Amino acid sequence: MKWIIANWKMHYGPIKAGAWIRAFRRERLPKDVEIGVAVPHISLAAARASLGRASAPLLGAQNAFWGKEGAFTGETAPEMLQELGTSFCLVGHSERRIHLGETDQMVGKKVAALAAVGIKPVVCVGETKAQRDKKETLKVVKAQLTAALTTSDLLVAYEPVWAVGSGKACSPEIAKQMHESIREILKKKFGARAEQIPILYGGSVDENNIHEYFSTTDIDGVLVGGASLDPRTFGLLCRAAARG
Ligand code: PEP
Repeated sequence: MKWIIANWKMHYGPIKAGAWIRAFRRERLPKDVEIGVAVPHISLAAARASLGRASAPLLGAQNAFWGKEGAFTGETAPEMLQELGTSFCLVGHSERRIHLGETDQMVGKKVAALAAVGIKPVVCVGETKAQRDKKETLKVVKAQLTAALTTSDLLVAYEPVWAVGSGKACSPEIAKQMHESIREILKKKFGARAEQIPILYGGSVDENNIHEYFSTTDIDGVLVGGASLDPRTFGLLCRAAARG
C-alpha cells in the first residue's frame, strides 16, 4: 500500500480545518492508497468531527512530546492525541529542527513515546543544500535516522531540506538512491522487518509530478505540504498519483 500524507503546517484553525475535511470528503479518491492529513493540534477535534464515520483521510498530528503528563507547558502528550483518534504523527520535520531546535535525540524520544500508544511516527530526515554540497548527505541522514529508530513500527519520510517548500523537487532518481540507502540502514537495525517500513519522499510534490514518484520503485509514497492546502487540488493530486 502506498501513502500520500498532507502536511498543512501552521495553516487552518478549527473552522477552516472542518471545512477542508468536508470539501475533501466530496473528492473521488484512489482505493489502493492510504491517505492521511497532518493537522495542527488545535484543529484535530474539528477535523475528527467533520470526518464523521468516513475512514479516509486518516488524521495525524505534526508533533508530540515524549512525556505522559506533567510540568511541560505548551506540550501535547501522545495519549492526548490518541484520545482524538490520531493515527500518525510527523516527527522531526525540518521546519521544527530549524526553527525550534529539535535534535535527533528529541526525535528518538518522541518516536518511542508515540509508538508506545499505537500512533505511527512519520520520521522526517533530510540534508540541507550546504550539507549536500559538502557531500555529507548520507552521514547526516544516517545520524538522524539512527537516533530515531527506537521502534520498527514507523514510516520514514526522506525530505531534502532544499526541496521542501522551494518548488525545486528532488528528482525521483536521486530520491530513489537515498531511499535505497535508508532501506539498508533500516535492514541493519531491524532485519527482515525493515521491508515493511514505508519510505516516503517529500519536497515540492504536486499534482503534476506525483506520478513520477509513484512509478519509481523504492518510493512508497509522498509527504505533501503546499499542494495539500486546497482540498480540491489535493484530491486531484491523489488521483494523479494513481496514474503512476
Ligand atoms: C512538507 O511540509 O513536508 C513538504 C514536503 O512541503 P512542500 O510539499 O511544500 O515542499
